Amino acid sequence: MHELIILGSGCAGNTAAVYAARANLKPIVVSGHEPGGQLSLTSLVENFPGFPEGIQGPDLVENIKKQAQNFGAEYLHGTVDEVDLSKRPFRIRIDGEWRETKALIIATGASAKWLNLPNEQKLIGHGVSSCATCDGFFYRGRKIMVIGGGDTAMEEASFLTRFGETVTLVHRRDEFRASKIMLDRVRHNPKVRILTSTVVEDVHDVNQNLVTSVRLKNLRTGEVWDEAVDGFFVAIGHQPNTAPFRGQIELDEDGYIVSKGGARTSVAGVFHAGDVQDRVYKQAVTAAGAGCMAALEAEKFLEAEAHTHAA
Ligand code: NDP
Repeated sequence: MHELIILGSGCAGNTAAVYAARANLKPIVVSGHEPGGQLSLTSLVENFPGFPEGIQGPDLVENIKKQAQNFGAEYLHGTVDEVDLSKRPFRIRIDGEWRETKALIIATGASAKWLNLPNEQKLIGHGVSSCATCDGFFYRGRKIMVIGGGDTAMEEASFLTRFGETVTLVHRRDEFRASKIMLDRVRHNPKVRILTSTVVEDVHDVNQNLVTSVRLKNLRTGEVWDEAVDGFFVAIGHQPNTAPFRGQIELDEDGYIVSKGGARTSVAGVFHAGDVQDRVYKQAVTAAGAGCMAALEAEKFLEAEAHTHAA
């Protein structure tokens, strides 16, 4: 029986582990299918306080993990496939093995969304990507396409102009969700070409195991055409990793955890931290802050439980 299990090893989960380990809760951190979370997919982080020259995302998250391990946090490689939060102790199944815990912090983050094109998944890693900072380098002097109309798409398109010969931004509507400043930056970049009211029908060529072209459709004219592309970046937002918790704690219509104030969820003893609940800020520093809050609340909860049982 564990005192505290933390699900997720991104900025939120690792920071929760630092606080919980220092409080002697001997937390078990389950690293999940994307160890290190979104930070492990970024390059230079320039806005995490305390690093005037910036710090590489993977270094930042690894440093927090080491810090947690120094205080006794234990890391488990694995993914949660089922939970039972209907009674205490909570039961968590990690890669088929059930564990029991008195308290739980969910810091499973949010993953990139895909377009669900017929060939998209087959070409991931072969020209299809959801992470410009991870894969942009491979498309030096090549033709790049970015899909989306939000800030993520703008950020990725701007970043990719460092590498690509051209960057074509494709958005399904005429209006953009992105903030004006980020949209203007893209609009004024001579390397970027913008196609609006345009959707992607598929990406090719599976036979060559390589992205060579993309089939597009203009929604206003109905025109369908193929465009030569080397790097295809999907930047249409993220989806919270909450599938195992469906029906067990309250989630909103998009699957994000509904906060009940502080780090509390609808189940006493289960706390949230980071992007799994945050659809607004999604920053490393806010995730770290949320991890701290969740650990402090878990500590308080466990203390109160211990008093109740002792009384
Ligand atoms: P958003 O939800 O803001 O935007 C997603 C975009 O993808 C929309 O334009 C949407 O189109 C489009 N889209 C969604 N699904 C599909 C689909 N199936 N096919 C085609 N297009 C699709 O997500 P973001 O990740 O861009 O941003 C999330 C939050 O993070 C925002 O609050 C944003 O401001 C913030 N952010 C801030 C940054 C910064 O300030 N540096 C950087 C990145 C994000 P439609 O508009 O038609 O719905």
